[in-house]
Formats: sequence, C-alpha cells, structure tokens
Amino acid sequence: MLGTDFSSLSFIHFLEVYFNLGYVNIFPWRHVGIEPVGVSVWGEQKLNEVPGCSKSFTNLELSLEDDGYYVPHDYNGMIYKLINVRGLLFFSTSFMKDHYRSLLCIDQDCRACSYRRAKLKEIETLHEL
Ligand SMILES: [Zn+2]
Repeated sequence: MLGTDFSSLSFIHFLEVYFNLGYVNIFPWRHVGIEPVGVSVWGEQKLNEVPGCSKSFTNLELSLEDDGYYVPHDYNGMIYKLINVRGLLFFSTSFMKDHYRSLLCIDQDCRACSYRRAKLKEIETLHEL
C-alpha cells in the first residue's frame, strides 16, 4: 500500500464475501436507481454479493496495525505498508467474526451503509422473535 489506505483496497470486498458477512447480500445501491442485475450479450443475470461502501475498511487496517500485523514503514520519507494477501486473509479472521459491522461507515450521509445497517438490524430482530 503506497499513498493510500484500505478504503481503496478492493480485496476487502472479496473478504466480505469470503467471510460471508451478514450484510454481504443486502444490496445497498437502490437509492441511486441501480438494480442488482448484470446485463451481457447472453441476457440479464441477478447479481449477488454486490460491493458497497469501502470508506470504513480503514477500521480493519487500524485493527491490524494495533495487533502489529500491518505497520507503516518509511523509505526515504515515503510511507508504505506491506502485507501479503494470505496474511491479510489470515489476520483478518477474528476482526471479520467479531467486528465486521465496523466495515460499514458511520457517515450519516452514506445511504449504502445506513441501509445495510438498518437491514441487519431488521434481520436480527426477526431472529430474536
Ligand atoms: Zn459508507
């Protein structure tokens, strides 16, 4: 990671699916008029596990930093972070199980995350009944 952070690391979207996070099949983009459908020359196909907002992927980054797995380095004044993909998968496991909700941002204006958070709450309420 050079000059950027986890908010631009698309691999986290893979991890959302890999760990089957509770919100991964809650489509978050209807508010902008998008439907979960892909279109190709073979027709339409329903899309599952559509990525949402990634602003708070930095919470995973901070957690890994706190645990000492993903620390910044300096090379001639240039800050970079280095982690291998397998390590990222491995070291993310406990975060994904215990803190995955923090991957949804708390920005009041982010309707994608607000929608997923609300739907998660609905699902949990149904399970409590
Ligand atoms: Zn968001």
